[in-house]
Amino acid sequence: MSRFWSKATLRCEPYVPGEQLNQPGIIKLNTNENPYPPSPAVVRAIEQEATNSLNLYPSPTAGQLKKRIADLHGLKKEQVFVGNGSDEVLAFSFMAFFDQDKTIRFPDISYSFYPVYARLFNIPFETVPLQADFTIPKEAFFQSQGGVIFPNPNAPTSIYLELGSIEEIAAQNPNQVVIIDEAYIDFASDSAVRLVQDYENILVIQTMSKSKSLAGLRVGYALGNEDLISGLTRIKDSFNSYTLDRLAIAGAEAAFQATDYYADMTEKVKTTREWTISAMNQRGFTVLPSQTNFIFTTHETIPAEELYERLKVSGILIRYFNKPRIENYVRITIGTDEEMQQLFHQLDQIIIEAT
Ligand code: PMP
Repeated sequence: MSRFWSKATLRCEPYVPGEQLNQPGIIKLNTNENPYPPSPAVVRAIEQEATNSLNLYPSPTAGQLKKRIADLHGLKKEQVFVGNGSDEVLAFSFMAFFDQDKTIRFPDISYSFYPVYARLFNIPFETVPLQADFTIPKEAFFQSQGGVIFPNPNAPTSIYLELGSIEEIAAQNPNQVVIIDEAYIDFASDSAVRLVQDYENILVIQTMSKSKSLAGLRVGYALGNEDLISGLTRIKDSFNSYTLDRLAIAGAEAAFQATDYYADMTEKVKTTREWTISAMNQRGFTVLPSQTNFIFTTHETIPAEELYERLKVSGILIRYFNKPRIENYVRITIGTDEEMQQLFHQLDQIIIEAT
């Protein structure tokens, strides 16, 4: 700690991301990345941009990319905001829509970056416990004082909340912003984007890190009413004149054009998810109903921490949270079929040794 630090710096309790071991041979099922590479067209577009234009500043607004995203969702360009990963878009949203004298609400258990931002920006918050089955209790989000934020599907629980409930939450918060963090939506049934025309207080945030296999490129975006988007732009323009770097813009634009490639890849992940869940069930695991590229699971006898430690020793990384109520759960990212088979090979050893 330093005597030079501001109060904001002192208030921070930084988010600690999942372990990033880069040893060869490690099977990384701990940070919900996509196991497949991005479309070759994305790589080509990035290479071309690097060769031709890296000496030039990028478009300050990334307007062409916004237009492409808008077209995909039947929205106007002015209804799209882009940023360096959805984490940055989330941070800007906290600044743009939440106040220091009004309490916001988010679920407990949820994405652990929300309390980090709330502390950093000095926004009071209350957490709403999930129900016994880990679903979101919609009524508890009605009439919030300062706004609402939650992921859909929720993380790390993987459970999806129906759009009808989101509509009710939005209707019951007419003067507050309701942020739906859709990081995993492409693995789920239905996006709340189609609600943004009818509900001026719904802001939907999505990312290219998961279903587009571009976690390394850092591109996220928000979709909503023009008013909300211009609030976000006002904040961003007070930080950085440029929206994204050239490589990110080129790669993201190419990814949004490679629709068939990504549709196939998402199907593949979902198919692997389904057989993985059955295989987990056969081995004494309970798996929460997943609409994401990960599963949240607990074993009937083997403690979660032991599973995490034992798998790590054998070169497989999964996520263990050690938090009240979920201390006996682990989160496992859906990898390739081969990676999941290796996971089961190790799990079988662990189970045999435990019995
Ligand atoms: N929201 C949720 C719920 C997440 O799990 C993640 C990934 N850790 C993010 C947002 C951030 O994703 P990114 O910054 O890579 O877009």
